[in-house]
Amino acid sequence: MLTVEGLRSRYGRIEVLHGLDLQVDSGEIVTVVGANGAGKTTLLKCLSGTQPVSDGKITFRGDNLGVVPAHGRLKRGLAQSPEGRQIFTNLSVEENLRLGAFLFTDTRVDQDMAEAFAMFPILKEKRNLAAGGLSGGQQQMLAIARALMGRPKCLLLDEPSMGLAPLLVAQIFEVVTSLRTRGVTVLLVEQNAFGALKIADRGYVMETGRITIEGAADELIADPRIREAYLGL
Ligand code: ATP
Repeated sequence: MLTVEGLRSRYGRIEVLHGLDLQVDSGEIVTVVGANGAGKTTLLKCLSGTQPVSDGKITFRGDNLGVVPAHGRLKRGLAQSPEGRQIFTNLSVEENLRLGAFLFTDTRVDQDMAEAFAMFPILKEKRNLAAGGLSGGQQQMLAIARALMGRPKCLLLDEPSMGLAPLLVAQIFEVVTSLRTRGVTVLLVEQNAFGALKIADRGYVMETGRITIEGAADELIADPRIREAYLGL
């Protein structure tokens, strides 16, 4: 579904991605784990089209994304739920969700909204309230629900567990797992390596702009290098 080959990206003269290769197959949950500053967010920005690529190739469902602007990627089914959530705090929960469906004018939007509310009942309860009044966990749910309103084939998730209490983290990871049954492929970027690897099929470890280890998620959880450096075990 998504293939990245030799991806390089820079901020000014400083290169932060030094030739990344990775692949996400249809129906998979793939995670990229790594410390703060490894370049995970930059990778997702390159994929969604909000950060320039200096070299390499990104292919999504057979299309070379190099020539496709950010909104065109969304139209093709590649959506991102960004780090820090970036919801519209002054708008209501429902208005935020409707913005996620801006590409569509059909009647399925109401059905999609009903599905989002079934997935996150708390959002239904608060549908008319300003999104800025939601708790951190609820805002994260709204960010994911809003991305799903765009009917993505592949969802890019940037640190959905960041700053959340353990119970909410578990809930968010459960939702991510359930996306599999909805036919949404997931690329999940996380500092919470253990949580992410537990729900993923495969994983990549990223260190200062390079992929250093990759493999099946259960193999990575058992790998002594990862247990020591990322799982604190
Ligand atoms: P985090 O978990 O903090 O988001 P990350 O793994 O996502 O970390 P990035 O945010 O992609 O890492 O950052 C990778 C490197 O690029 C870091 O060294 C960071 O300081 C640098 N960087 C990120 N954004 C910019 C920017 N706008 N201008 C210059 N350097 C940047």
